[in-house]
Amino acid sequence: MDRERPDGPDRTVGVVGYEIRTGEIEGFWAREGVVLATGGLGQVFDHTTNAVANTGDGQAMAYRAGVRLKDMEFVQSHPTTLPSTGVPISEGVRGEGGILYNGEGERFTFERGYATTDGELTSRDVVSRAELTEINEGRGVEDEYVYLDMRHLGEERITDHLENILHLAEDFEGVNHLEEPMPVKPGQHYQMGGIEADEHGRTAVDGLYAAGETACVSLHGANRLGRNSLPELLVFGAGRAEPRTGTPPKSRRFPPAGRPRPRPATLIPRLRRERSATGSRPTGVRSRRHRPSWRAPSSESAGASRPCSTEMGSTTPRSGRRSRRR
Ligand SMILES: Cc1cc2nc3c(=O)[nH]c(=O)nc-3n(C[C@H](O)[C@H](O)[C@H](O)COP(=O)(O)OP(=O)(O)OC[C@H]3O[C@@H](n4cnc5c(N)ncnc54)[C@H](O)[C@@H]3O)c2cc1C
Repeated sequence: MDRERPDGPDRTVGVVGYEIRTGEIEGFWAREGVVLATGGLGQVFDHTTNAVANTGDGQAMAYRAGVRLKDMEFVQSHPTTLPSTGVPISEGVRGEGGILYNGEGERFTFERGYATTDGELTSRDVVSRAELTEINEGRGVEDEYVYLDMRHLGEERITDHLENILHLAEDFEGVNHLEEPMPVKPGQHYQMGGIEADEHGRTAVDGLYAAGETACVSLHGANRLGRNSLPELLVFGAGRAEPRTGTPPKSRRFPPAGRPRPRPATLIPRLRRERSATGSRPTGVRSRRHRPSWRAPSSESAGASRPCSTEMGSTTPRSGRRSRRR
């Protein structure tokens, strides 16, 4: 994304991107504006439910363009993710009656007083913090996770209601959930904060809009109820940003005839240099094996707020704890 100042304040003029498959670099002029909709930033954390593409690029681009990031300390953890991959295990398992045990066999949500009324069914941040406390105080399993058990529900109920969970446990953890409990731990799940935007998706930079998880329209406040992000996308994404930017124009290659070459012309060689610096892969997307060492540890705290400042680059240092194999 780049901006120009022809005769006034900053304005977003278009984007430069590269094709992940081929590594080809291309520039596009924006007709009326650019909408950033790059999703969350889970890949900034060492354990997350987010896809590999959710790297926080949108927030980084907006920040570099001078837009404030808001409420970045409000990060939601999902309490039951698979240690090997971060794949979330639906709350449906606990809704159906699944029980969380620590390494000492205690039903810790009740027995250790984290949630004496609702137990496993209390909110995501309370369950996640309870699990982390158990693990960090030495009552986890292999110092890394706790157990989610649904064996008592019986084979018929499990296969009727939770069959896909059986497959996830088996495929990713090698666990037969009918016969043994499943290892789970909290993982980063949703970013409440993001690019500061108003109810129309507008940011502080003219022509730059943000929608979806990359944006912060403050709908969720400091925490988010499960299932609430999709309505947000419909209301503040499709419903607001689109009328402002009009029907998406047919993309035009950069630079179009008759238009001067603004800074994208210098961006393209820079991107080429950066791309070749990442090695032989044509893309910046890295596999799990190549995760950078600056990732923020998700094993130190969990809940609606995180003990870091909203300033960029101020995340806590990595703990050195290694994620499990696979
Ligand atoms: C496992 C999981 C389960 C969830 N379940 C629910 C649920 O049941 N209900 C609910 O309401 N919410 C749920 N959420 C949250 C919800 O899915 C997300 O908040 C929502 O999908 C965000 O939508 P988005 O369009 O903002 O971003 P995304 O859907 O993440 O899309 C972002 C897109 O931008 C692309 N992108 C990223 N960076 C770049 C870049 N630099 N250049 C070009 N493209 C880029 C990505 O490839 C991706 O296609 C879940 C989230 C996860 C991870």
